[in-house]
Amino acid sequence: MSSGYPRIEINLPAIEENARKLVSFGKDRGFQIAGITKGVCGDIKIAQVMVDSGIEILGDARIQNIRRLREAGIKAKYMLIREPMLSEIEDVVRYADYSVNSEISTLREISRIAREHEKLHSVIVMVDVGDRREGLLPSQVDIFLEKIRELPGIEIAGFGTNMGCFGGVLPTYENQKKLVEIGERAQKILGYDVEIISTGGTVVLSLAEKGQLPEGINQMRIGEAILLGTSTTDNRVISWLRQDTFTIKAEVIELNEKPSLPEGPRGLDALGREKKFEDRGIRKRAIVALGAQDVEIDGLEPLSPGLEILGGSSDHIILDAQNAEISVGDVVSFSLKRPYQYTVMLRAMTSPYVEKFYIS
Ligand SMILES: *Cc1c(COP(=O)(O)O)cnc(C)c1O
Repeated sequence: MSSGYPRIEINLPAIEENARKLVSFGKDRGFQIAGITKGVCGDIKIAQVMVDSGIEILGDARIQNIRRLREAGIKAKYMLIREPMLSEIEDVVRYADYSVNSEISTLREISRIAREHEKLHSVIVMVDVGDRREGLLPSQVDIFLEKIRELPGIEIAGFGTNMGCFGGVLPTYENQKKLVEIGERAQKILGYDVEIISTGGTVVLSLAEKGQLPEGINQMRIGEAILLGTSTTDNRVISWLRQDTFTIKAEVIELNEKPSLPEGPRGLDALGREKKFEDRGIRKRAIVALGAQDVEIDGLEPLSPGLEILGGSSDHIILDAQNAEISVGDVVSFSLKRPYQYTVMLRAMTSPYVEKFYIS
């Protein structure tokens, strides 16, 4: 039995509004939005909201999330947006319509299993235009295509790139144009035009907002902008989207007055950090039943006046409550604070201890 706290409150209408605005933003500029669900653990209700908003393709990094969404009857095309493990190809072929790839051995295995199932699996070939996470270097693409174009059971559906994740590299007209050019060049080797030129994630939106996204890109894979209305890589609030999509709530379990300085010889804290303390005398403090197992503590902002986060450990967060009206059993609400808002959402949605509470 769950008590209901800690909880994450999910504002479905706000997420829906973001998704709708993004779909129409993309439509006006010639690209479709692929809704990325990995930040919310492939949540079924959120995925449904994305589909209701006009999103036709859902992407997740985990094949078990894709399987769950498909089995829940969410009607969409599914894209595995992390290159598959060799050990999961059976599930990839079965549950994903598309997967991103850059490994020949993996594609051979996909081909073998797709043939066994008499299926055609669509592949997005990933290209690294600078962020240095996954993908072929542009100079490697031609040889790669020569090697895989004959594989049965596989269709090269397009090319993709990812920005702003590992290297924190920002999108530019030039690096996005490279992807478009690779798509055009591939036509000569493959003998046909590919269907998808895919970029992402949210950080690429700013390029489209400035009118600097090159023509030819027809898909943008977007998670954060839909879910949070923010863009972490350029540490930006997207002014035309909503940010009131998630609220964290936790219950007060202790209220006491204590000296603000610790007493005795000191090491690191429970999370391996060295902490500084300021002597503010005796202060009223509250402890809430919420910790690093549930959220990223540095990404929380108390919503009621007079509360300030002092720190926390795996299962406790300590608040200065000197100027707050508060009692044991009260519920404290927190909004998500930049630049850790994505991490808070991710951890809360993944933690089995955090109740998912939907506002519809
Ligand atoms: C996470 C991810 C995205 C979505 O990124 P957001 O910044 O959440 O929009 C898109 N594509 C790939 C390959 C990803 O891993």
